[in-house]
Amino acid sequence: MSCVTTDQAAPGTTDEKAIDVQGLRKAFGELEVLRGIDFSVARGEVVCVIGPSGSGKSTLLRCVNLLEEPSAGRVMVAGTEVTDPDVDIDRVRRRIGMVFQAFNLFPHLTALENLTIAQRRVLRRDRAEAERIARANLERVGLGDKAAAYPAQLSGGQQQRVAIARALSMDPELMLFDEPTSALDPELVGDVLAVMRGLAQEGMTMLVVTHEMSFAREVADRVVFMDGGVIVEQGTPEQVVGAPRHERTRTFLARVL
Ligand code: ADP
Ligand code: MG
Repeated sequence: MSCVTTDQAAPGTTDEKAIDVQGLRKAFGELEVLRGIDFSVARGEVVCVIGPSGSGKSTLLRCVNLLEEPSAGRVMVAGTEVTDPDVDIDRVRRRIGMVFQAFNLFPHLTALENLTIAQRRVLRRDRAEAERIARANLERVGLGDKAAAYPAQLSGGQQQRVAIARALSMDPELMLFDEPTSALDPELVGDVLAVMRGLAQEGMTMLVVTHEMSFAREVADRVVFMDGGVIVEQGTPEQVVGAPRHERTRTFLARVL
């Protein structure tokens, strides 16, 4: 039973892998986007995924929380096999914070309300508790004074920080980020990266698709380079960004650095 599997994977169990992907394949019709991916993320680890546009980075992230259904392979999240047909995927997703390039805030709700709605509906927290947690998380991302603001009244960087605070309010065990700063004006990128750096320092498990090589260099425990639906190489930032072994990695880095 899926609920049993989920319970066994509660925090504090012996499974040290937050994410474990084996033989993952994904095709859209004829198009093979992921062609056999094997990798894992340990608890507390920060892994950055880099690679050219179209290499399958977003699809990989979306397969981890089953926004896309893998064509083949096994995906484990915190000890639960999300590719098990019987899995309670809502329950697994609740443990995963996801931050996208587009902030996806509700435009008709204030920052505070954006943070409380899922807490109340999904986690069944009462209003007072949800608001207390929301305010603490707005504080955490440096927006304690923006609780009453609507998304349109906030800069892109502030909206993205609200989106991060919203994910944090659900007490995620791990966070997935898909190019969280790509839609931002350059001067707004730093504040968002600073929040992410803080989370990493607090020990949050993070899988981050990014083109921010300085962030990957400073913050990642491991960098994964993808191209054409496969992992071409992975290792420490010093290895992959500093001394890439593969020509394809060097070509990519020459374009983004
Ligand atoms: P990346 O995030 O590395 O830019 P994606 O994972 O978004 O790459 O996309 C990889 C490939 O899969 C691209 O060729 C893209 O057009 C294709 N693709 C992604 N999502 C879909 C979909 N829902 N239907 C068909 N093709 C898709
Ligand atoms: Mg993408």
